[in-house]
Amino acid sequence: MAVQQNKVTRSRRNNRRSHDALVAANPNECSNCGELKRPHHVCGACGHYADREVVAQADELDLDDVDA
Ligand SMILES: [Zn+2]
Repeated sequence: MAVQQNKVTRSRRNNRRSHDALVAANPNECSNCGELKRPHHVCGACGHYADREVVAQADELDLDDVDA
């Protein structure tokens, strides 16, 4: 088993942990549906990005229309 050679002081330990804090997400409102979404990501609720639909939603798809 590896054994540390020197005691890690409270100061050094706490300095190391100063970067460990979690930061909260910063959601934006979707400009199409108003749902909260991650910035620079496609809206998970309506599939829009930058006022354009880029991902079709399952409830809008007509599966009989797709032949591939
Ligand atoms: Zn949306």
